Amino acid sequence: MTDCLFCNIIKGKIPSNLIYEDERVIAFEDINPQAPVHFLVIPKEHIESAAYIDENNKNLMGHILFVVSKIAKSRGLEEGYRIVNNCGINGGQTVEHIHFHVLGERKMLWPPG
Ligand code: 5GP
Ligand code: ZN
Repeated sequence: MTDCLFCNIIKGKIPSNLIYEDERVIAFEDINPQAPVHFLVIPKEHIESAAYIDENNKNLMGHILFVVSKIAKSRGLEEGYRIVNNCGINGGQTVEHIHFHVLGERKMLWPPG
């Protein structure tokens, strides 16, 4: 997936403010933050969206949530945060490499628009 923006961030071809990396995932600051804390957690494996979660990568999704929780603790988000996954056109997904937004340090509204 040479033309995938997030694959290029993983490869270091496009710069990002990296905040976490292990053998399976990276996390970096969103370029257009929607909250005082807004970072993205993504798998290194190119998976298009949540619609492509299958038997082979479902454990990776659990690992991503574990990483979210770990980073949130280290960033001091004791008062809570929101995890968002936009899937497909109706979900508002703009980058076709699965990613989990983590937003914190502001009160979120529910339901979303
Ligand atoms: P989506 O709309 O697909 O759920 O979210 C894509 C997110 O990627 C958006 O919040 C957008 O601000 C972020 N984004 C788009 N391009 C870049 C980039 O080049 N670098 C970083 N760090 N974030 C990006
Ligand atoms: Zn990709």
